[in-house]
Amino acid sequence: MGAATLDELARRNVRVCGLEQFDRGHRRGSSHGRHRVFRKAYFEHPHYVPLLCEAERIWKQLEAECGIPLYDRRGVVVSGPPDSEPVTGTLQAADAHGLAVHVLSPAAARTRWPMLMFPDSHRVVVDPDAGILAVEECVNQLLVRAERHGARLCWNTPVASWSFEGDQAVVTTVSGDTFRAERAVITGGAWAGTFLADELPPLTVRHKLQVWYEADAVSRNTLTGLPAFFFETERGSFYGMPSGAGEIKLARHSGGPVVQDPGSPGTGADAEDGPVACFANRFLKGLSPRPVYREPCLYTMSPDSHFLIDRHSRFDHVVYGAAFSGHGFKFAGVIGRILADLVLDGRTDLPAEFLSAGRFRGSDPP
Ligand SMILES: Cc1cc2nc3c(=O)[nH]c(=O)nc-3n(C[C@H](O)[C@H](O)[C@H](O)COP(=O)(O)OP(=O)(O)OC[C@H]3O[C@@H](n4cnc5c(N)ncnc54)[C@H](O)[C@@H]3O)c2cc1C
Repeated sequence: MGAATLDELARRNVRVCGLEQFDRGHRRGSSHGRHRVFRKAYFEHPHYVPLLCEAERIWKQLEAECGIPLYDRRGVVVSGPPDSEPVTGTLQAADAHGLAVHVLSPAAARTRWPMLMFPDSHRVVVDPDAGILAVEECVNQLLVRAERHGARLCWNTPVASWSFEGDQAVVTTVSGDTFRAERAVITGGAWAGTFLADELPPLTVRHKLQVWYEADAVSRNTLTGLPAFFFETERGSFYGMPSGAGEIKLARHSGGPVVQDPGSPGTGADAEDGPVACFANRFLKGLSPRPVYREPCLYTMSPDSHFLIDRHSRFDHVVYGAAFSGHGFKFAGVIGRILADLVLDGRTDLPAEFLSAGRFRGSDPP
């Protein structure tokens, strides 16, 4: 979100500087692991759909500009009990916004994608206008474009504190350097709570394990036509996608060990391995018996699993994007636009009001 905001501000000719505590391309936050799902028939809430249309436009424009593949439009298939939120929500969002999704019988879905074992009790919804984003390259290309438009990037520069003095934001780093600016945007991922403690509702950071399995010789040939997939099961929600040569990435969306300190998330990996392996056994065919690669990542959850994007309640020239609750990456470009609008103009024309932190200060959640 920081990379997208830098890119947006730099392209608006704003003099902008980004401070990051770790190296470029680090793997200690929430934006790594080869691929992220992009989908528009959004079961989390139909209000997200207009933002996703804009996000898709931004990803495609970035891809066209850099000439490197970023978005693979291979569709997504959602499977779950007929009354489950992923199934009903996908259909509702599609209906509300005229998106072309269709329902398949589990038997027809199994014939079409033999690697996926759709239970007969499930309803299967196919969204062809969805796909996967190459997550690290997306971040990299946002940064490359930001730099090309004059953004300054400071790596290994952990921020210790910020304040507002007179008409200036004053940011102090752990090594004691001070940065002064007219305005500030805070996009701290799993660390956001540290800098916005009085501003945000309590956030919960969860440890997630991304697990890659190898497809066997027969299944390997079917990966080209395999969409991303999301399964709502009695043991929680799981998803996966082809990711890397002959490999499938799997992860659990629901649950996961709570992390007290994102800087040392611990070894929740072992706790997560079991559920993902059970999911692989029960719902996939043609995978290697053991994972070939595993990598942890962090979800930062708001109390209602919707994002928190707002102006600071006490400092007009400070804005933040936080609590992307395990589903934010696909939106990055449009979040950059919203944060740039808010920090420059105090308002945005994009329909993002439902993500304002005000919903935890008395108004209804979305
Ligand atoms: C396993 C996994 C799978 C996911 N799958 C999907 C998916 O399929 N589709 C989807 O849309 N989303 C998905 N998400 C969610 C999505 O990736 C995140 O919502 C999004 O990447 C969060 O971005 P962010 O900028 O908030 O956090 P980050 O990318 O972690 O960025 C925050 C940055 O702030 C820096 N920072 C923090 N504190 C300081 C400090 N004091 N000083 C300087 N820098 C600091 C951090 O080092 C970090 O680089 C997934 C997430 C995970 C973990």
